[in-house]
Amino acid sequence: MHTTALVLFSGGQDSTTCLAQALSKYERVETVGFDYGQRHSVELQARLVVLREIRSQFPQWAHKLGEDHLLDLAVLGQVSESSLTRDTAFRMESSGLPNTFVPGRNLLFLTLAAALAYRRDLQVLVTGVCETDFSGYPDCRDDTMKAMQLALSLGMDKRFLIETPLMWIDKAATWALAEALGGRPLVQLIIEHTHTCYLGDRTHRHAWGYGCGQCPACELRLRGYAAYAAAPAGR
Ligand code: ZN
Repeated sequence: MHTTALVLFSGGQDSTTCLAQALSKYERVETVGFDYGQRHSVELQARLVVLREIRSQFPQWAHKLGEDHLLDLAVLGQVSESSLTRDTAFRMESSGLPNTFVPGRNLLFLTLAAALAYRRDLQVLVTGVCETDFSGYPDCRDDTMKAMQLALSLGMDKRFLIETPLMWIDKAATWALAEALGGRPLVQLIIEHTHTCYLGDRTHRHAWGYGCGQCPACELRLRGYAAYAAAPAGR
């Protein structure tokens, strides 16, 4: 029986929904984030605001929410030329992958999260990776997660479970999942405080939250929200 979890938490819509699910399932939940020289520290600020709001608005979860860890991964900037860390425009590469792709980034995240979970005695690693809104990231695939679960469990001689609550659902269903877990207050919290936009835009407020409204991350979020908002009552 698993009772403890470590959530890979970026301050975005997906990982906030994963955090809410972990808090509804497990007795003790900690969070980990990675600072890899993101072009915009907006994400890192959003993490802290979301954690604060969950603690204040959801007393049924607040007592389960333990330490937050932030790991410095500046080394990622040394091995990649990515539009997430460099000041270059977002574009699609000839490989068919967006230039936000940092090869193997999630493998590194999971390895570090597992090492932390080992030390903190946490059993489940929760990550918001998803194949449904597939942007081509091979390190987000279900097979990759299963292989990582095995590699980490063998390599650290401790049984880890990698949980991926969003793997097979789309962005509309992710909004609906948030509503099922925390009602409209959680949906509002996600709209108001989570950050998704690649450009770090917090000046334009839309029904679905803040962002430029143009970048692929904003497009995905606004399309998902529109489909969720249009769903028939009584879902
Ligand atoms: Zn945007």
